[in-house]
Amino acid sequence: MKTVNDFDFNGKKALIRVDFNVPLNDDKEVTDATRIEAAKPTIHKILEDGGSCILMSHLGRPKNKEAEFSLKNVLKKASEVLGVSIKFTEECIGETAEEAAAQLGAGEILLLENLRYHPEETEGDRDFAQALSKLGDIYVNDAFGTAHRAHASTAIIADFFPENKCVGLLLASEIENLNKVLTDNKKPVTAVIGGAKVSSKITVLENILDKIDHLIIGGGMAFTFIKAQGGKIGSSMVEDDKQELALEILEKAKEKGVEVHLPVDAIIADSFSELATTDTADVNDIPEGWMGLDTGDKTNAIFKDVILKSQTILWNGPVGVFEMEPFATGTIHLGNTIAESTRNGAYSLVGGGDSVAAVKKFNLNKKVSYVSTGGGAMLEMLEGKTLPGIKAMQN
Ligand code: AMP
Repeated sequence: MKTVNDFDFNGKKALIRVDFNVPLNDDKEVTDATRIEAAKPTIHKILEDGGSCILMSHLGRPKNKEAEFSLKNVLKKASEVLGVSIKFTEECIGETAEEAAAQLGAGEILLLENLRYHPEETEGDRDFAQALSKLGDIYVNDAFGTAHRAHASTAIIADFFPENKCVGLLLASEIENLNKVLTDNKKPVTAVIGGAKVSSKITVLENILDKIDHLIIGGGMAFTFIKAQGGKIGSSMVEDDKQELALEILEKAKEKGVEVHLPVDAIIADSFSELATTDTADVNDIPEGWMGLDTGDKTNAIFKDVILKSQTILWNGPVGVFEMEPFATGTIHLGNTIAESTRNGAYSLVGGGDSVAAVKKFNLNKKVSYVSTGGGAMLEMLEGKTLPGIKAMQN
């Protein structure tokens, strides 16, 4: 698979699929430019070569070309972040777009209007992909966040650039970093899987058992495992229909020699609220009407012990309701421990929407080895799937 470093873009027009699907506030201002920042190295490499960039992205899930989903909203912030005044075209295919692309000079950037204004984008329509392909000489995919989708601009379009296609530096580094966890890992390898539901993480849990030595399970999903083993979990979050599966995962882990670490104590609350009355309890003995919303001190100490002796750490999902201050301690403790282990030489990768939010909230971004930008895409890679966006770039 080629990367942008394998091409000289001098005099060339790069057609780049970026992920500028950024959050906007009520005034339609960008509130978090992380994804734009992440595309910067690729764009700069192309401009420095003497090429020009045509950026295509989606924004939200528009139904009828609603103005709130226009990529025009992103133009100002993107220009600021990239340090270049970006041009814009209100159509992403057809004459207007082709003309705007043709007029683009070296060192210039053109942003196309939201690809998802056309339903053909998500349908993976070939004609739409071909129409887009007319805009550039070399196709670059740098959108890890959508690499798990077989959309027109993320996968199908690659067919029209059999020789001239490559991944951008962000996508290349996402793949390289995930491989540091999945294939070229230093042992012992620990996965920390938290979050709300077992159901959304089952395939990940099953697939990573082959690759890890320790599995730490936290968050709401831990209670399905605890109940399945006979614990009294009070009103804690549970997926009753997943208890059987939880036991199967524990059995498989045992067969494969993976040590599973579940919480032993919890911060419990009498309601799902920041103002709730709280207490601590053994996870197997939570009173009726009370729910476990965070890990307790004993659990935090056990998790710390495992993480400090790990050489590779993957973290996906918070171990408590970190959005509420009284239940954030476990997740903060966990994040700090992963940071400490990283300082001691371990490799750590954090990914998945809520763990990334937690890492940012508690200022740990620079203290872990890598923060993945892709939620669904990262989970699918962990599930062992080949992502359509990556497959399309292989010859
Ligand atoms: P996920 O998107 O599956 O990673 O889940 C993240 C969400 O899980 C966060 O919003 C947390 O508030 C929530 N969560 C974590 N621990 C618990 C818990 N013990 N009970 C209920 N929700 C939880």
